[in-house]
Amino acid sequence: MGNVKTSLIVSEVFYSIQGEGQCAGISAVFLRLAGCNLLCSGVGWVCDTIEVWKKGRHTYFQDVLPVEYIQHLENGAHLVITGGEPLLHQEAIGQYLVWFMSVHNFKPIIEIETNGTIVPEWYLSTGVVNYWNVSFKLSTSGEPYEKRVNELALTTIGRDCNNVSYKVVISREEDILELFKDFLDTKLIDESKVMLMPAGSTQDELTVTRPIVVEACKAFNLGYTDRLHIVIWNKKTGV
Ligand code: SF4
Repeated sequence: MGNVKTSLIVSEVFYSIQGEGQCAGISAVFLRLAGCNLLCSGVGWVCDTIEVWKKGRHTYFQDVLPVEYIQHLENGAHLVITGGEPLLHQEAIGQYLVWFMSVHNFKPIIEIETNGTIVPEWYLSTGVVNYWNVSFKLSTSGEPYEKRVNELALTTIGRDCNNVSYKVVISREEDILELFKDFLDTKLIDESKVMLMPAGSTQDELTVTRPIVVEACKAFNLGYTDRLHIVIWNKKTGV
């Protein structure tokens, strides 16, 4: 790690349950950092956190999490570092975690949510992060392949990181074919770690996409994840 950081650019912090992926259902403190290197807005779905991650405030390490959230972490809630794309800030994240552990004398259970386009540095990939939730994007994101897929990043994460799971947003049957053609048949990622997730940022939208995704999971023996926060709170964010 290079320059000494003392702050993170924070979009929002809230306490809830993890709504998606391999740790769905577990209580979690969400730390959303600002900015993303993609702008997903394509066929079938658009980024549903853009209005939040576009804003961010430089926040000194000591002001990032309120005391009661630190208590939740000490009691076993996960710290979910998300975005936007949090690895844009990975040096600051690394220094924040070192600072956190030295001040609070414990290491929380940490999840990172990433779009898989940035190669993680050693100080994040080799142990401190417990779960990697990688949501690489298909062509329905509207982004070109060269921008949304970094083969080196996916390979590095798959090889070096703890508990990797790939959460793939599915809005139509063609997405399954693309997943196999570009990611699974090429062995770019480990098929056994894939979880398909229905596209949709409202309960009505999920009702349409969910049956397509469940049938694909059954047909190809792939994992399934729902979007619990939408099932519970619909469009409300930060809850
Ligand atoms: S990568 Fe994620 S946060 Fe970034 S624009 Fe796409 S959906 Fe939104």
